[in-house]
Amino acid sequence: MTGQYGDSTRSVKAVASEHVPGQPIASPPVPVSAYHLSADESEPLDSYGRSSNPTWRQLESALAALEGATTALSFGSGMAAITAVLRVLAGPGTALVVPADGYYQVRRYAAEYLAPLGVDVREVSAADMCEAAGSADVVLAETPINPTLDVVDLHRLAMTCRSRGATLVVDNTASTPLGQQPLSLGADLVVASATKALSGHGDLLAGYVAGNHPEHMAAVERERLLAGAILGPFEAWLALRSLGSAGLRVERQCHNAMAMALMLREHPVVRSVRYPGLPDDPAHQVACHQMKRFGGLVSFELADADAVHRLVARSNLLVAATSFGGIHTSLDRRARWGDPVPAGFARMSLGIEDTDDLVSDVATALG
Ligand SMILES: *Cc1c(COP(=O)(O)O)cnc(C)c1O
Repeated sequence: MTGQYGDSTRSVKAVASEHVPGQPIASPPVPVSAYHLSADESEPLDSYGRSSNPTWRQLESALAALEGATTALSFGSGMAAITAVLRVLAGPGTALVVPADGYYQVRRYAAEYLAPLGVDVREVSAADMCEAAGSADVVLAETPINPTLDVVDLHRLAMTCRSRGATLVVDNTASTPLGQQPLSLGADLVVASATKALSGHGDLLAGYVAGNHPEHMAAVERERLLAGAILGPFEAWLALRSLGSAGLRVERQCHNAMAMALMLREHPVVRSVRYPGLPDDPAHQVACHQMKRFGGLVSFELADADAVHRLVARSNLLVAATSFGGIHTSLDRRARWGDPVPAGFARMSLGIEDTDDLVSDVATALG
């Protein structure tokens, strides 16, 4: 039913509390570690704060609705969600494919913690994902890839994984469920950081796992209980509060990203631009098939590191910051973090400022 609604309607409906006269429309957070138990020793819905929380349930049902999943599970960060799934799926002796060009700390985790346990970790670039999936047990794909913004053909990858019996996990952080729904394209599980555009205000860390297989989700929930990487009730509440305006924010961010990409492409000091929404971007065709929106990130290359720093210094609107998806437009020179990109490569995260203000500010600051 909610699938027929637009994104802002879906965001608002997803966070609405139950209609109970006299009760608040917006639910308050429930900070709690222990709940009253009954004398008959029956298992109550809530008993201890590491296993459940009413605010989590609300956030999780909102996230599940947006991802088109039966179940979502919240975590204390995106990395907590991703590593929980990897620990569940990638045991000793399994072959795990991780993106060679994606979020760097996922690769580091796989190399530093999973490989020594006997997991066969294979770092594979976006272009070679489908081929590598043929001989893997678990494939973690990220699309659009942070920070290069290349796009992985999820339908094709899911078909390959399915035919070979591999489990496909998709990191949906960059796009958000308002931009693409990997489960509907054949992914088995979605993992994501809600720290970025979904919460969108740069004031909390959160992550989630979403899926439709009861056995996968039960195993991930068990892992969360035992490993304890839970989301605090206040952060859960802040994330829920933010989700209601996600449709509105993401729409403006995507609109700003397209306008910025078009300007950057024409600017004489910009060497190259990647944005899946540009009609001549190498990823545009695939992006059109699987993305509803092309996202709020634009990557481009200037002459060198100095040129990136000069751009921020001359601009009145750009904030120098890592992370992305917030209401402020921010810029990050990715080579400083060790990403395999040129020194002058910058990732811009478009905020919700007025489009004309942003584009003319950056055009002028570029000189
Ligand atoms: C930021 C990010 C993560 C990690 O999320 P945290 O909330 O910082 O732990 C994972 N994947 C991608 C693609 C990200 O951008």
